[in-house]
Amino acid sequence: MNGKFIMTLVVLLLCVGATAVGIMLSDQPTETPVQPDNQQSAALPEEKEEEQKEPEETEPVPEEDPTDTWELILANPDHPLPEDFQVETAPVQGNFVMDIRVADSMKEMIAAAQEDGVELMICSSYRSIQRQQELFDEQVAIFRNAGKSQEEAEAETATMIAVPGTSEHQTGLAADIVTPSHQTLDPEFAETAAGKWLTENAADYGFILRYPEDKEATTKIIYESWHYRYVGVEHAKAMKEKGLCLEEYLEELKGGE
Ligand SMILES: [Zn+2]
Repeated sequence: MNGKFIMTLVVLLLCVGATAVGIMLSDQPTETPVQPDNQQSAALPEEKEEEQKEPEETEPVPEEDPTDTWELILANPDHPLPEDFQVETAPVQGNFVMDIRVADSMKEMIAAAQEDGVELMICSSYRSIQRQQELFDEQVAIFRNAGKSQEEAEAETATMIAVPGTSEHQTGLAADIVTPSHQTLDPEFAETAAGKWLTENAADYGFILRYPEDKEATTKIIYESWHYRYVGVEHAKAMKEKGLCLEEYLEELKGGE
């Protein structure tokens, strides 16, 4: 065996290995190309799923909570975010920013709508818990000055302003979207070209209508035809197909389907 032969052998083996890897990879469920999951963190849930598919583990694998991912984080009155919750943001439109991991998805969605002649206009996106706390405290102070007790003032404020940590806008994953011809946040937005476009296409970019009309009892939030939340393309499509809101979907995931 001369050096050349060994080299050829090594190259051949590498090719075989690469082909085998290629075949293994092609067995994995392919993702739709529209998903801009080029960030490492965004790919985490898929990796977890792949791990769980390997049955040859002899040691018992500790059960992972499939809902324990950043994109499925729940922020509602029953599940406030931790006080030290931090978001790394990136601009999405004008001065509006969102979580850096979803900013590209939002920008792509806005661009795709524009190509279809539809203008999506963000009117609210990320809001820090600190800012929410300031807004909340200012309103409490107004009620206190009007003679209410601290408890009364806080309770009344909570009906007007989300208790800090409970607003989905603080996750950086949600945005209120309108369109130039219809800038009010009301149910009628759903009937505009922008509303209809979002209903049809948002899931392709990983966004869901977070507070649907028929889920008020579960979300405890009124129907918000304008509020879209990122959950990732896979989850968004599943939720849309099954007609589940986030709370219901998380329950189903935890239940192990
Ligand atoms: Zn909103």
